[in-house]
Amino acid sequence: MLPGTARAWEFMTKTAQDLFGRYGFEPIYTPLFEHTEVFTRGIGEATDIVSKEMYTFEDRSGRSLTLRPEGTAGVVRAALEHGLAAQGSSAKLYYAGPMFRYERPQKGRMRQFWQIGAEVLGAAEPSTDAEIITLLVRFFESVGIPLDRMTLLLNSMGDEACRPAYRERVRQFILQKGAELCEECNRRADTNPLRAFDCKNPECVAVMADAPLLRDSLCDECAEHYESVKRHLDLVGIAYVEAPRLVRGLDYYTRTVFEVQVTHGLGSQNAIGGGGRYDRLMQEYGGPPTPGLGFALGFERTLLALEAAGVDVGAAPRTDVYVAAVDADVRPAAFVTAARLRDAGMAASLDHQARSLKSQFKQADRLGARLVVVIGPDELASGQVTIRNMDTKDETRAAVDDVVVAVRSRLG
Ligand code: AMP
Repeated sequence: MLPGTARAWEFMTKTAQDLFGRYGFEPIYTPLFEHTEVFTRGIGEATDIVSKEMYTFEDRSGRSLTLRPEGTAGVVRAALEHGLAAQGSSAKLYYAGPMFRYERPQKGRMRQFWQIGAEVLGAAEPSTDAEIITLLVRFFESVGIPLDRMTLLLNSMGDEACRPAYRERVRQFILQKGAELCEECNRRADTNPLRAFDCKNPECVAVMADAPLLRDSLCDECAEHYESVKRHLDLVGIAYVEAPRLVRGLDYYTRTVFEVQVTHGLGSQNAIGGGGRYDRLMQEYGGPPTPGLGFALGFERTLLALEAAGVDVGAAPRTDVYVAAVDADVRPAAFVTAARLRDAGMAASLDHQARSLKSQFKQADRLGARLVVVIGPDELASGQVTIRNMDTKDETRAAVDDVVVAVRSRLG
């Protein structure tokens, strides 16, 4: 990440720190790589991520390790290992950092990409689903994505009571329509039939439009949970679109799944964030039943969406004040003055290359300095500096000893 992008990343992580903190989330950092099993168990062997996108390697002792392809598995592994959501307590955690997937690179899809994510462990209530969805939408709003360019898609994937029978119906449907579906979807019939809803092939999309929907066969508990999530979203005015064919790419989801898509700037990779509930994930790791849910949002795609909306979040920080030295004799005084201004909390720049006064002014202009403190031998002899306002071109004098106060009051 070059500085413009890195500044945008810092802006987004700071926004997340502030906003997620207000929702009661605490930061967590998990390792960039873990035992491969952490990901295969949690995410599921039959998912695209595990079956073809992981960067897996052996270390010097022959252990199989994998660069993390997503954040939830590591967070849940850590929570179990350290008892963060033990015995009926709950944990609200967020992370930010790089993820790695061996995908076909294109606009908005890279092999190392950056995510911010949040997880709630130990919470079963539908109001928590609505809370975390609200947080995701508010985050995108806070960084500057206009509400009218975002669509929140919502669905329920059911649970172990209603999904197996539904999965079988989709499998049968795929087997019946096999000839009209791509090879990959045919393969999915046995490994992961619901993923056929995610196929981008237009013929498959058309065929799957007639496939049975889980919405019509949710068990009573899942249907009530889903209705309650929607009621809670209505209460806080979060608009959503029901998307009965939304299945997300990870095996661990149960009940609520959601995705935020943008209408501008991203083409086919238009999902900027998404997540869902994963009530069985902790048990996959051998832990006690611990309902959980979370989301992850993609930094690069969010940035593309912001660019499309004309929002610049990576603007260079402006220099408040430039300290110019008229000649070599006064350079130490300029050096000290810049240091004092910085110590007092102002953004100060100065020249280290003995440039002419004219080029120092040019540089001050380039850096966007609002003031230039000019230090010259005559002025210094009388204990004074000149302060030039770069907008009005007005020049005033100040005592060397008072320069910090004088600059601060002129900056307002
Ligand atoms: P997922 O972990 O697949 O649910 O993805 C969550 C978010 O991460 C997506 O909505 C994207 O914004 C982002 N994302 C996922 N994969 C990639 C990728 N390969 N490159 C860039 N962003 C990605």
